[in-house]
Amino acid sequence: MKSTDVWPAYQIVTPEIIARLTEISGTENVSLKNADLELHANDQGIQTAHCAEALVWATDTVQVSRVLALANQERIPVTAWGAGTSLEGNPIPLHGGILLSFERMTRILAVQADDFQVTVQPGLGYKDLNHHLARHGLFFAPDPGANATIGGMLGNNAAGIRTVKYGATRDNVLKLELVLADGRVIQTGSRSVKQSSGYDLTHLMIGSEGTLGLVTAATLKLAPVPVHISAAIASFESVTAAIEAVVGVRGSGLDPAALEYLDEITSDLISKNDGLNLPAKPTLLMEFHSTHAGSMQEILEIVRQICIESGAVQFFSTINQSERLKLWHARHHTMETIVRNHPGHKVTNSDVAVPISAYPELIKFIETCRSRYDVMAYAFGHAGDGNIHVLYVTGDDSAYQTAMQMNAEVVNQAIELDGTATGEHGIGMGKTQFMRKEHGAGLDVMFSLKRSLDPNWILNPGKIFPSNIIPA
Ligand SMILES: Cc1cc2nc3c(=O)[nH]c(=O)nc-3n(C[C@H](O)[C@H](O)[C@H](O)COP(=O)(O)OP(=O)(O)OC[C@H]3O[C@@H](n4cnc5c(N)ncnc54)[C@H](O)[C@@H]3O)c2cc1C
Repeated sequence: MKSTDVWPAYQIVTPEIIARLTEISGTENVSLKNADLELHANDQGIQTAHCAEALVWATDTVQVSRVLALANQERIPVTAWGAGTSLEGNPIPLHGGILLSFERMTRILAVQADDFQVTVQPGLGYKDLNHHLARHGLFFAPDPGANATIGGMLGNNAAGIRTVKYGATRDNVLKLELVLADGRVIQTGSRSVKQSSGYDLTHLMIGSEGTLGLVTAATLKLAPVPVHISAAIASFESVTAAIEAVVGVRGSGLDPAALEYLDEITSDLISKNDGLNLPAKPTLLMEFHSTHAGSMQEILEIVRQICIESGAVQFFSTINQSERLKLWHARHHTMETIVRNHPGHKVTNSDVAVPISAYPELIKFIETCRSRYDVMAYAFGHAGDGNIHVLYVTGDDSAYQTAMQMNAEVVNQAIELDGTATGEHGIGMGKTQFMRKEHGAGLDVMFSLKRSLDPNWILNPGKIFPSNIIPA
């Protein structure tokens, strides 16, 4: 492997290339307008924006295949775009070239309700999908919160509040249609829920951030919409006590559908903002799904006992829909609440994940760093699966640099605890420097896979791999 700072020499998008892209895609699906390019130059994170040289809207598999074949032949970078809600610069066209947006491939191709499956195009938003599926009594469970597309969720292996029960995106995909860098179209997986045939290319693609191939159709697993839903919220004197309750609730077999952690300052902020009457203490927010109304009260009573035995100082539960929605509204809008409460400040969202048993140690480490660096940092996340978000609030560049030093320590600590640099946001541009520490020689295997599937390195260059690892 050659180590150098020079990337492969890419070609610029010439007027001849534009003419060929237009011939393939139609004039209405190609744009060189600054306004369009600027709209697709940045995600929702803090990485520096870069404009592509041309924007092409994907319309079908054949067109995507022809665009990639052309780009591969001409050595032009291609970066896929879903809705641009990533947080680590994942869809930013760092090396220019073509920005291939899937915003116009939004069809539901088939609802296979009896199989609990749906086949969709990648530009469809998961919220729109679930709106449509409600009439079948089904839903696609991964829920990253923002208005993400299925393609973007596949790209980042997005997860969310319900992952503790239903799994991340990766756990809910059966089959993909993919276009490879050279334009070849392949199918991976099948609609069988059991698959043991050959290498698992489907799951290799999920989380690859558009660097190995582009998804043009996906068959997803669905779950029945829960009939009865309850919520509980408990506050504790210490993180250790809160995590003891997390382990207790998970170990009880109650199968929580959400198990969220909020640190003291986050609880305090959302309590004041959303009128929740929470003490400024480590807090757990939980949700349970059931098919029987009768079992709800029983479940909540067991949860209450577990929380009290673990040292909860306050416990509240409800089966009332509006009370439950009020609690979850506060959690779903935590990031917006933090942003709104710190006008004129930059808010940087980082995520790491560790085994649940290491969660208290990681939280304590974050708290120690917060004092040592004197940085404003909120910590909250999906405790049920060991995922924590740290939101750094900084007023100027020097404070931001200090916060990023702290973030590097937190990420390194998560890796030391046998965790990962990112539980759900992906590597993008923001976390490439942690790849070697986390994966060791495994990074070289990833490099070999990348080079075998995309030898000209045209798919989303500048992501996942540190910049000192490039094709020889
Ligand atoms: C307020 C807020 C809260 C968030 N909360 C969460 C959360 O709880 N959990 C979570 O996981 N994420 C969260 N995110 C991050 C983000 O919403 C998710 O990562 C989401 O999956 C990105 O989807 P997108 O459609 O915006 O994709 P984009 O950002 O457009 O793209 C994501 C990646 O997928 C690639 N890609 C896009 N389409 C395709 C395709 N067809 N084929 C192959 N690759 C493709 C892109 O090149 C890029 O690398 C949050 C973001 C915000 C702003």
